[in-house]
Amino acid sequence: MPPKFKAKHGRQSISYPQNVKFDGDYIHLPKIGLVHCRRHRDFEGNIKTVTVSRNPDGKHFVSVLISDGKEKPEFVPADQAIGIDVGLTHFAIASDGSKFGNPKHFVKGQRNLKRKQQKLASKNKNSQNRKKAKLAVAKVHSKIARCREDFLHKLSRKIVDENQVIAVENLNIKGMVKNHNLAKAISDVGWGMFCTMLKYKSESEGKRYVEIDRWFPSSKTCHICLNRVDNLTLDIRAWSCQHCGHHHDRDVNAAINIRNEALRILALGTSASAGGGDVSGQE
Ligand SMILES: [Zn+2]
Repeated sequence: MPPKFKAKHGRQSISYPQNVKFDGDYIHLPKIGLVHCRRHRDFEGNIKTVTVSRNPDGKHFVSVLISDGKEKPEFVPADQAIGIDVGLTHFAIASDGSKFGNPKHFVKGQRNLKRKQQKLASKNKNSQNRKKAKLAVAKVHSKIARCREDFLHKLSRKIVDENQVIAVENLNIKGMVKNHNLAKAISDVGWGMFCTMLKYKSESEGKRYVEIDRWFPSSKTCHICLNRVDNLTLDIRAWSCQHCGHHHDRDVNAAINIRNEALRILALGTSASAGGGDVSGQE
């Protein structure tokens, strides 16, 4: 019998820090005893933690964290890591100072969409012309979506190819879309889709993708002396640190802070979102 879980729905898990043993096709869990399991991978080293989880479909999985005795914090040189911030004037800004604007044809597509939508609004209800105008709007919509996806694929590919660590801010996209000033900018540029692409491309190549907590004050902190300014409204694009006097491009400074925070997290070895190689799964 697998362990019982308190909640009946969703994904549940129990962690065992000790006293778990594997014996052939069986796993011995404290208080429960032997449970049959199918091992997908062999491993060597000491068992650190064993987590048993139940997916919503009712299947149980066991993840095993192994220590090989050589554990050390991960040191990544800053020039192999990149921090990326979402921008309003640009699609994305990187810690090395590069800024990536939205592609021109994408902007053109937006204008075209607006025209087609106005045309649609002028047609009589249930008319044949209205049907045609509606189809035209749908076509522009899907063309814009294709352009956006293509742009995001190429940019995420380039960033992952050129770096070992990719750090982004974990934005609350839904919360931001409610905010009128940011709504259009954020939803248009597909930041969430971009982060998803960065994540799977990084992880499929054994690189590190790190999301920084969105409450981390990346914009307001001087990356040189770590002095924090109290107020930095969205219209301020550049500022000088009152403490060290360094002049900052708002977005590049934020991207550098995001990169540095990611390196700090990796050095502490506490990142949950970074892809790792020492967890083996069994069913
Ligand atoms: Zn400073």
